Amino acid sequence: MSILYNTDETLRERVTEGLKDEFKHNAIRTAQEVFYTKRGELVKEMGIGWQQLRMHATEVRNHVTDNLDYYVKQFAENAEANGCIMHYAPTGDDALWEVLDIFEKHGASYAVKSKSMMTEEVGLNEVLEETGITIIETDCAENILQTAGSKPSHIVVPALHFDREAIMKIYKEKRGYDGSSVPEEITHFLRKILRKEFMDAEVGIRGCNFAVASTGSVTLVTNEGNGRMVDSFPKVQIVFVGIDRIVPDLESLDTMLALLPRSAVGAKMTAYFSLDSGPRGAGEVDGPEEVHIVLMDNGRHTLANSEFSDMLRCMRCGACLNICPVYRHITGHGYGSIYPGPMGIVLTAGLVGYDDIDSMAFACSLCGACTEHCPVSIPIHDLIRQHRINIVEQGKNHAIEVPIFKALALMWSNVDVYNYAMKMGTPVMKKLAHGEDALAKDSAWIPVVKGWTSTRDFDCLSETRFRTWFKEHKKQQGGGK
Ligand code: SF4
Repeated sequence: MSILYNTDETLRERVTEGLKDEFKHNAIRTAQEVFYTKRGELVKEMGIGWQQLRMHATEVRNHVTDNLDYYVKQFAENAEANGCIMHYAPTGDDALWEVLDIFEKHGASYAVKSKSMMTEEVGLNEVLEETGITIIETDCAENILQTAGSKPSHIVVPALHFDREAIMKIYKEKRGYDGSSVPEEITHFLRKILRKEFMDAEVGIRGCNFAVASTGSVTLVTNEGNGRMVDSFPKVQIVFVGIDRIVPDLESLDTMLALLPRSAVGAKMTAYFSLDSGPRGAGEVDGPEEVHIVLMDNGRHTLANSEFSDMLRCMRCGACLNICPVYRHITGHGYGSIYPGPMGIVLTAGLVGYDDIDSMAFACSLCGACTEHCPVSIPIHDLIRQHRINIVEQGKNHAIEVPIFKALALMWSNVDVYNYAMKMGTPVMKKLAHGEDALAKDSAWIPVVKGWTSTRDFDCLSETRFRTWFKEHKKQQGGGK
């Protein structure tokens, strides 16, 4: 499974790297502000209706998680009745074998692909390339990443970390582009080279935002026309569907589609929406002759039966990334997972366990902004806290933390030691602060404290303790003790 990348670096190293990248910070700040403002306006416009929609979507998604096997079966049967060929993949490796089989059966070696997190999750591109199959990303941002050899830094706007100058340079170096950095000019160039790829491709590979159980249909929500080209030009189509993508019927799909673009990019709807039910029918002029649906579990059932089952409601809108103060600073690449940000912490740990994820679950301030903004009310920060509890209970936290917290617990549970520490705290801090009211940058030599003071001041303890102040206050008011 290739959810993780840059695993030879620690979280601290990746974060240190990310913190230095001023361009990435500015790009993320701008994107967060734009998405957040636009989403806020639409939410305001809907008034109480927004919360009702959230509640309804939460109920629908919970209902599917609670009856997962029923809906997986219903969707598979209906998709099959539509003429699709179903492949059930319990693991990512199973999904890869199924795909390789399809290519082999058709003797195919050339494919176009539209954006799909499930294919990222199993590392499809790398595997196909290793076996000599050419796979072309046709989503503009994904094509930039593929050409640059880079990883996505956001689940909705994956090439957020490149500006127009960098993109121009990438295409000049790798694809012979000779134009300017004007975005329209670059996209015209891309359109021209991709046209031929669409025409030549033998297989189209795509993801699926939601799969409708009652009709056996798969949907695609995009802002570029590439998705439709991928699902209508090549004769063979492979659709990757996570079993958590299923909704019961078209009515519930409607609810999800009202929430998704508003939460993702602050838009009422996207430019393109496709609802595909099976291969090209008799008399139809376009569409694939053969549709394969890879229905992938890859840890979803395990999640559904765990304390993290709420996470299966996630519709990958990215709203939690767009509001997260930690994501803003450490950037998507800081997490080292194809699922970054708050949702990424919960999902990555839920799918790969705690052994390989370093300290990712601790890259969160637990402010709860993600939970507040999630369109399907996932208690994201609570789930992150639960991961931390599990990590500590399983003894997978840093060894040094154990004696430190034991010593602190001992100190704070003894009233005399606590009072003494509080009494001594103020003069000691004042001394370290050279008589000022806060420890500043020049205190960055103090271990542990430097994590804070190297970038901001740390206020000294007040000379008047709250208990003393409260006693005085009561006295002045003529109150009791
Ligand atoms: S956790 Fe919620 S806000 Fe974050 S991507 Fe998933 S649905 Fe969107």
